[in-house]
Amino acid sequence: HEATSLVAALRAPSPTCSFEFFPPKDDEGEAVLWQTIADLEPLQPTFVSVTYGAGGTSQERTVRITGRIAGQTSMRPVGHLTLVGQTRGEIETVLKQYAAAGVDNVLALRGDPKGGPRAPWEPHPDGMTYAIDLVELAADLGGFEIGVAAFPEGHPDAESIEHDAEILVAKANAGAQYAITQLFFRAEDYFGLVERVRARGCDIPIVPGIMPILNFAQVARMAELSGAEMPREVLEQIEPIQEDKAAVRAKGIELATQLCRDLLAGGAPGLHFITLNRSKATREIFEALRADGLV
Ligand code: FAD
Repeated sequence: HEATSLVAALRAPSPTCSFEFFPPKDDEGEAVLWQTIADLEPLQPTFVSVTYGAGGTSQERTVRITGRIAGQTSMRPVGHLTLVGQTRGEIETVLKQYAAAGVDNVLALRGDPKGGPRAPWEPHPDGMTYAIDLVELAADLGGFEIGVAAFPEGHPDAESIEHDAEILVAKANAGAQYAITQLFFRAEDYFGLVERVRARGCDIPIVPGIMPILNFAQVARMAELSGAEMPREVLEQIEPIQEDKAAVRAKGIELATQLCRDLLAGGAPGLHFITLNRSKATREIFEALRADGLV
């Protein structure tokens, strides 16, 4: 991958493009993922990220897959890392495994409780409490570019969206160099977050996370779990056609493409696509944006 750092790319004038994958459960899923990665590589993403299994599971897969992306593709991998169910020492070991595998970009996250995103958070007794603790650890170890999560509609447990913006600023002050957002559906929610953070004197690049609605039930569930609201204007367009899978998919792509246009027009530094390990929808959106001369 290119010599420029991820952060330099995010701060450059032309928008970045990046893709998020999850670690597959079995060999069949992994074959699908490698095909998807091969299909998306020609789009020359600025980076690709691989999530860390919910509850801290499947970390070996995340480290192995990101390491292979670093070693065998032209793309820059970002490894996600959470605190769930791990001691401080274990978390430090994973950071060292990333470094040894050639993965020098990490997304430092708290993770959700084992009982799911809505269960109360309980840190591991010998672990860490907040994502900021992991930012500090990775910064102390050195050699990493560090990203964090951000929430356009506020994190579900946040006292207020104002306090949530303060948390992001604190993470930036602790060493986080960029943020990627939770999925959302309204450009104004993203711009509201950017404004709250800028108002606090912080210029951290905030990359919007994009997830097109391809399957209504699946996105509605993910949105509910993550605390993102499915807005009325979206529901009104999808609900009447929800029995017609092809129509939902086409409308979902159209809505996501328009959201991307609005985000780039308003100055978003790039677009981060949550692919669910498939390439087709992302390529369609990308082609539409390219035809507009936006990417
Ligand atoms: P934190 O920054 O620790 O915040 C968690 C809560 O604590 C917030 O309500 C915050 O306001 C509050 N808080 C934080 N610091 C303080 C403080 N000092 N004092 C008081 N309150 C505080 N989950 C996975 O399991 N694996 C993944 O790979 C993964 N990838 C993700 C990628 C992105 C882009 C995003 C947006 C989320 C991802 N998640 C992932 C989900 C994420 O782990 C959850 O949303 C989690 O609940 C919050 O993580 P965080 O890093 O924002 O936590």
